[in-house]
Order: sequence, then C-alpha cells, then structure tokens
Amino acid sequence: MERTQLEALVRRLYGEVEGNEVLVEGGNGEAKTMRMFDEPLIGIGSADDPLFEEYKKPAAVGPWHRSPREWLNEAATVVSLFFPICEEARVSNRGTPDVPSLEWLYCRIEGNEYLRSFIARFRDSLIEEGYQACAPALDERFRAFMNQTPESDSETPVYGSMWSERHAAYLCGLGTFGLSKGIITRKGMAGRFASLVTSLELEADARPYQGLYDYCIRCGKCIERCPVNAISPNGKEHRPCHNWLLHVKEQYAPRLGCGKCQTAVPCEYGIPVRQ
Ligand code: SF4
Ligand code: SF4
Repeated sequence: MERTQLEALVRRLYGEVEGNEVLVEGGNGEAKTMRMFDEPLIGIGSADDPLFEEYKKPAAVGPWHRSPREWLNEAATVVSLFFPICEEARVSNRGTPDVPSLEWLYCRIEGNEYLRSFIARFRDSLIEEGYQACAPALDERFRAFMNQTPESDSETPVYGSMWSERHAAYLCGLGTFGLSKGIITRKGMAGRFASLVTSLELEADARPYQGLYDYCIRCGKCIERCPVNAISPNGKEHRPCHNWLLHVKEQYAPRLGCGKCQTAVPCEYGIPVRQ
C-alpha cells in the first residue's frame, strides 16, 4: 500500500465509520444533530525513530511509555491522526471559562467513542490488506495513569499513559506542544488524536520543527482561559486540571470536559504568528 492509498483509506473511513454525528440534547428539551470532527490530518512516523527511546526518560513521558515494537513486534510505521473539533463546538466553548459548552462535552465523551470506533476500523482494514496493526489505546495491555503509580519503575503517582497520542503526533510531524500541553497542528489545537502502529512500510514525514514548543508563541492566553490556574509560564500541572474535570463530571455526568485552553486562543485554528 502506498501513502496515497493509505490517505484514501482514511478518507473513506471518515465517510463510513458511524458515530461522528450525534444528537446533542440540551436541558431545555431541544435537540440538534452535530458532526463532531472534521476530516483528520495524517502524520507518518518511523517505528525506529530514536525519539521513542527519549520518551522513556522521566523528563519526557516516563519508562512506562512503550515503543512501537513493544506494541507490535513487526512494527515499521506509526500513523497519527488529528481530528479537528467542529466549528460549532469550538464557537460554543469560547464563552465563560468555568462553564464548558454542551457541544464540547459531547466531543469529549461521544467523541471518544467515535475515535475508538474509527481507529479500530482503520486497524482492521490494514489487517484485511495483509499487514499487521495495533492501536495501542485499544490494546488490552494499555494503561493510563491518573495520579496513579505505574506497575514498573516508579514509586510516585503520575499522570500519563503507556502510549501518548500527543507524543506520537509530535513524532509524526503533526505539530509541536503548546504551553497548555496540547499539540498545535496546522489546523490548530482544538481537536483529538488517535494512532496505530503497523508493519506497513512507509516513508516517515519530515518534522518541520526542531523543538518541542516551536509553534507556541508564549502569548499566555491559555493561562488566562484556564478556570483553575493549571497553566503558568512554566507549563501545565495535571492535578488541578484533572480535579476540575472530575468537578465538571459531578455536574454533567456521564460527560466531562473543559477545553477552555484550546478555544478563544491564538492557536485554536492554526499555527499562531507572533505579532
Ligand atoms: S494560547 Fe498562546 S501560550 Fe498557550 S499554547 Fe497557545 S500559543 Fe502557546
Ligand atoms: S488546563 Fe485543564 S482545566 Fe485548564 S483550561 Fe485546559 S482543560 Fe481546562
């Protein structure tokens, strides 16, 4: 399979996989249909990229982060997808910092379900074509840690996971980190990532950046937008952000979300430009 065929497959699945359109039901009894995500950007990385070893260092993700070959012995390529959140959800979430919009909450919870369906179909389609493929986030070995202690190499509770979608996206050339720890892509930061590793051999995309934070202009708007001061000029603290999401869930269960640091900021739609 060539790269162009892989891109065509992703486009076809974007049209076919169900769950992207949801019925958003407000408390006032009104309901409307919303398509949560626009067509994804595609980034390609090499399973042999030395950055995967860097990610195992405590200053990056941590020793619990698995390399592509630890997910799939025959891994040759990593494919990372960025799904921009739709205009409707972005606009609705630009208001008051301490109230997430209903549309945004749907993109977080129903959005997760859709992304899991999408990446499962993508994985299965590659397997049907004769390649091996593994979507780490769907793998039974996958663990995420929310102020929890990983089973190995650490005594300290951490926020992280055994496969970081954002770090995969950085490696695959999709964008760099921002101060708020989201990834700034050429379609902005407001969106979600999904990825898989596969035995399909493709040429990796060149990363059009050198540093982890190259696209962030340090404007500080995400600091102002955060309702719980989780972001500072030094970066983001996971604990207050996580606690805020739990607080939101108390009000909106089963949904939760915030995303104020991704909306009404200069990196919402694209790579920001210094004024
Ligand atoms: S809002 Fe400004 S400081 Fe925050 S991540 Fe975006 S560009 Fe960087
Ligand atoms: S850092 Fe967390 S709490 Fe703060 S704006 Fe972003 S998502 Fe919301």
